Amino acid sequence: MANEKFVSQIADIETDFPQWYTDVVVKTKLVDYGPVKGTMVIRPYGYAIWENIQKEMDARFKAAGVENAYFPLLIPMSFMTKEAEHVEGFAPEVAVVTHAGGAKLEEPLVIRPTSETIIGHMMGKWVESWRDLPLRMNQWCNVMRWEKTTRPFLRTSEFLWQEGHSVYATGEEAEQETLNMLHLYEEFAKNVLCMPVLIGRKTEKEKFAGAVATFGMEAMMHDGKSLQAGTTHYMGQNFAKAFGVQFTGVDGTLKYGYTMSYGVSTRLIGALIMTHGDARGLILPPPVAPIEVVIVPIAQKKEGVLEACNALADRLKKTGVRAKVDDSDNSPGWKFNEWEMKGVPVRIELGPRDIEAGKMTVFRRDTLEKQDSFTLENAEETVKALLSDICENMYERAKTRMQSRIVNASSLEELLSGVDGGNFVRAGWCGERACEDKVKEFAQATARVLDEKNDLPTCVCCGKKAKHTVFFARAY
Ligand code: ZN
Repeated sequence: MANEKFVSQIADIETDFPQWYTDVVVKTKLVDYGPVKGTMVIRPYGYAIWENIQKEMDARFKAAGVENAYFPLLIPMSFMTKEAEHVEGFAPEVAVVTHAGGAKLEEPLVIRPTSETIIGHMMGKWVESWRDLPLRMNQWCNVMRWEKTTRPFLRTSEFLWQEGHSVYATGEEAEQETLNMLHLYEEFAKNVLCMPVLIGRKTEKEKFAGAVATFGMEAMMHDGKSLQAGTTHYMGQNFAKAFGVQFTGVDGTLKYGYTMSYGVSTRLIGALIMTHGDARGLILPPPVAPIEVVIVPIAQKKEGVLEACNALADRLKKTGVRAKVDDSDNSPGWKFNEWEMKGVPVRIELGPRDIEAGKMTVFRRDTLEKQDSFTLENAEETVKALLSDICENMYERAKTRMQSRIVNASSLEELLSGVDGGNFVRAGWCGERACEDKVKEFAQATARVLDEKNDLPTCVCCGKKAKHTVFFARAY
């Protein structure tokens, strides 16, 4: 009975996925709504996930030789207008500060929607000779984009992210770095978020404002819609020219640098929720789960039970596992439901009989399987192996689902029925913007990324010879 009551607090994942998402993010205390429309408060349980994402991602950047820096939140309005496409793309979304210190400002200031301009400006100051290159920096910060419709983690006016910015002497190097970072993101998605993604180049229509080329990684959510989970951009010399990023080459002549940038945000939290979640709530990938193992005492008032639970938690913590004993006054059944909804990967139940037998009962959140044959003695090895198995299973399960829901289409009708059925649709495309627009109008689907494999002969829209094979989907 308790179980039914608990589950009923979350909308049905199959029939009302949007409400399921809202219920889950609020009821598991990941997030709450801020007082200003479109803002979110990331609560401790949600922020701990972000901290784990940061930790894992930051280690990868540092291993790749990228250094962290911090640039100001406020950007002179004049910077935004220096790169024509950039200002056009971001103008509708920027928040502008016009007054400060009780007076009107001479020049309005933009709250950063992204930092290409201010970092371009500083690169222009710092780069003088070929010896200063490459310059590779990253910053962890917040940005602001005034969005009309917002949803926690997916689209909010303020969000947290990292933005990496590099300048190189040659276009080849900058392009290569754009791909390297795309692959770093793909590896991160797989090994840290247990999330399969499609990677590839974006169309002109979908590319970043001011970029020569944008690449993205797209993940399939539970409802078959796509979520853009990270992007990398090759800027060519667009920003270098706008901000005077010049260097003296080995040959003594003055040249413009080539820049690139890349970013992932708190959207990743939305992505992992909608990739892995089920009817009971969250299923968190172990590498980012704030609590990897929750230990629930059975008959916790009995002598020795809590002590045994705490001793087990200490042993697990010593091996680097994030373990917690739930010694609250709630009943074991209530605790089971709570931690299942909150997506903790492993639950260990420990009662007087288990302790006496030197055993523990283990429940895994991904498969909902319960097993009581594990010995307490080998708890560390058992838990480590289990967490790693859960990672693998979560990834494989999501990958199988994604692969089984990619279909080919050779007409707009087929494309429409494909996306209606919650699929990603592969289709040929002639490369014309008009056909891309038609697909959007006809099927409310957009070109997510171009497929590396280009095997479909004709454009899904006009029937002319296809230049690319595209993954179309409805997207968040
Ligand atoms: Zn066409």
